[in-house]
Amino acid sequence: MSTSFIYLDNAATTRTAPEVVDYMLPYFGEEYGNPSTVYGLGGRAKKAVRMSRDIIAKAINASSEEIFFTSGGTESDNWALIGAAEMLKDKGNHIITTSIEHHAVLENCEYLRNNGYEITYIQPDNTGRIDPEAIKKAIRPETILISVMMANNEIGIIEPVAKIGAIARDNGILFHTDAVQAFGHIAIDVDAMNIDMLSASGHKLNGPKGIGFLYIRQGIKMDAYIRGGGQERRRRSGTENVPGIAGFGKATELAIDNMETEQSRITELKNHMAERILAEIPGAVINGGIGDEYLPGILNVRFDGKQSETTMIMLDMQNIYCSAGSACSTGSIDVSHVLKAIGISDSDAQTSLRFSIGRYNTLAEIDMAVDALSGIMNGRR
Ligand SMILES: *Cc1c(COP(=O)(O)O)cnc(C)c1O
Repeated sequence: MSTSFIYLDNAATTRTAPEVVDYMLPYFGEEYGNPSTVYGLGGRAKKAVRMSRDIIAKAINASSEEIFFTSGGTESDNWALIGAAEMLKDKGNHIITTSIEHHAVLENCEYLRNNGYEITYIQPDNTGRIDPEAIKKAIRPETILISVMMANNEIGIIEPVAKIGAIARDNGILFHTDAVQAFGHIAIDVDAMNIDMLSASGHKLNGPKGIGFLYIRQGIKMDAYIRGGGQERRRRSGTENVPGIAGFGKATELAIDNMETEQSRITELKNHMAERILAEIPGAVINGGIGDEYLPGILNVRFDGKQSETTMIMLDMQNIYCSAGSACSTGSIDVSHVLKAIGISDSDAQTSLRFSIGRYNTLAEIDMAVDALSGIMNGRR
């Protein structure tokens, strides 16, 4: 799939796969029924929703009744945090999370903190890893929820969620994970990983934007977050986003079917990019790392004394797209809270760029991007 630009910002969003678009189109067209209606048209929409729910449930070893479609990762995180806090307010008011969560988790923690809850933010080590023992030590009698992301969107570290989940379970505490960067990219098993709630989003795995899900383990009586007509078994009202749900299911199927080959292909591209950058650009240093404990596609690099905003704009002029800091804070020049948390100074953080490699990137593109980058860094442009 050739384009007139090189897109290395797949952690921010991805191109919807053409197979996914094709699969969605009928649900905008002749199959426009409302799944809640009983005649044939609605029945076919309902079937599309059911098929997607089944594919997604299977992908994380859950059952279909545990999948609740939402508008995306942000809504799922909001529901998990606020819903759990409300559900368990008589049990306690303490929540354990990390300092490197996505803003969709952090902002809700701050909201809860302003409303009588106490939040402990666990700090990672300088690789980005959250130590399960640190989580364990932070547990109090009034702890009601632990929320730790499965993989970080800025540096790609994969957290030891199975161990953290086991600690949560041993202590009778609910465990939520933001798996938006992980779902469809690395294997997930909610049972083996002791996960009670999990957030995911369609547009990070070559699916459509504006669709996500929250997995809620059977037996957890969490209340609705969006109330109304009673869709999604009364837990998340609103007429279903049928094209989005259909596309999310198709995207999940494609991602799961090709996961292993894509993992190794993308890891090779990343390693090649890292090797060339380190060899050709003096002073370049990888933030976090690139081993097995990181997602295949994320490479975060700081460039000695070169402001990331400037580099990003110079790359943009050559139609090469990447990210300075996290995409959600673009427009503001805030220093990344993630880089800060792994011990990188403000000035080094401000020279950092995130390259995130995805399904449609080729080796030729990676080479062109590094050529451009080294041209900029070595003053040839
Ligand atoms: C993108 C992202 C989100 C937000 O998901 P949306 O579907 O864009 O709302 C949440 N958490 C992480 C880790 C993300 O990367």
